Amino acid sequence: LKVTLSPVHRRDRGMTGAIAVLQDVTDQEKLEHSRRQFVANVSHELRTPLTTIKSYAEALNDGALEERELSERFVGVIRNETERMIRLVSDLLHLSRLDSNQAPLRRQQTNIQDMLDEVADRFSFQLRQKSITAKVKVDRSIKQVWLDRDQIDQVLDNLVSNAVKYTSDGGSISITAMKSKDKAYVEISVQDTGIGIPAKDLSRIFDRFYRVDKARSRNMGGTGLGLSIAREIVKHHGGKIMLESELNVGTTVTFSLPLLQEGGDAK
Ligand code: ADP
Repeated sequence: LKVTLSPVHRRDRGMTGAIAVLQDVTDQEKLEHSRRQFVANVSHELRTPLTTIKSYAEALNDGALEERELSERFVGVIRNETERMIRLVSDLLHLSRLDSNQAPLRRQQTNIQDMLDEVADRFSFQLRQKSITAKVKVDRSIKQVWLDRDQIDQVLDNLVSNAVKYTSDGGSISITAMKSKDKAYVEISVQDTGIGIPAKDLSRIFDRFYRVDKARSRNMGGTGLGLSIAREIVKHHGGKIMLESELNVGTTVTFSLPLLQEGGDAK
């Protein structure tokens, strides 16, 4: 709480009173704090790969270039780190466009069964590599939904890629679509039988750069922004996203989208 006192003067009588302004600054301070935290996080996330790239380039310069096998490995590390930085910067740009409303929704009538089958197809190579089975199930009463296909594909890609990343070999993933109880929304879930998330981390899981295990997420090529981007896109569509998880059992992420008529807009 910020208190500002200003005296009230009358020309002939001196000070006759005071005006007190009580201002709640906690929200403002919180916003400022999270903005600073965000900049610190971005800087750190960019500096880490840059430091790695620099030291491997130096090692190449200092003689590793003479050894073919070693130099190939070092160049591989440099390429991986560069690719991760590109992903990070693209994710940041994407988030900033969503934040400033520069990503207008281009809704189109979309067949939900086709959309979910296609996301499973996009991951078929990775799924096969880890012997993970994936199944898609869509409530028969759901046909076309009015949504921005590119943006919802991005949400699905983020969720399915997490499900694949955090599920060990031989597990299973199911992607389902049903109607909400009040029939006003379609609810799409991505469920896995993966490593799960500890209860203490659940409340912060949608925060930018929040990761249960930073080192593991980095090794898997994660940026820590996937769920934040998914949440922004779902919010723009007028829906909600939530995550349920049990350690060593699995994770389910569900998002809802309003079942709008063509031309309708949730906002
Ligand atoms: P990342 O790029 O690290 O995957 P996300 O924002 O997509 O970033 O996810 C944030 C964190 O949430 C991940 O680092 C991981 O710890 C956890 N997480 C997300 N999805 C799952 C899942 N399906 N199973 C287990 N942990 C998950």
